[in-house]
Amino acid sequence: MADCLFCKIINHEIPGSIVYEDERILAFNDINPQAPTHVLLVPKRHITSLTDLRVEDDQLVGELVRRAAAIAKERGISAGGFRTVFNTNRGAGQTVFHIHLHLLGGRNMKWPPG
Ligand code: 5GP
Ligand code: ZN
Repeated sequence: MADCLFCKIINHEIPGSIVYEDERILAFNDINPQAPTHVLLVPKRHITSLTDLRVEDDQLVGELVRRAAAIAKERGISAGGFRTVFNTNRGAGQTVFHIHLHLLGGRNMKWPPG
């Protein structure tokens, strides 16, 4: 999608600090990290919001979640605990309208989130 920041990172039109890439998924470090590990995992295909997901996307979303867990394990933050978050739509804090799973870890987390 032409005007989408994360599509531009996926297409290497703007730089991203890439952590993982395959045919369907890209993972890169958040530019404004909220924890020692703060990685964003995105599908390469543009999907605006979780509210646009279709049944055909089930596997893709599963891959995002499983890859987040794998990255947490690789970084040694898995046993201690990590957080995975999809902010969906403006009231929940979504600012980039290309779905992304936040992987946050490496520090203790509070609940409920703000
Ligand atoms: P949201 O608020 O939509 O859930 O998350 C968007 C995330 O994208 C934020 O954590 C923000 O720091 C991150 N972000 C915004 N612009 C850029 C950018 O140009 N590059 C990277 N790597 N992350 C970005
Ligand atoms: Zn996009």
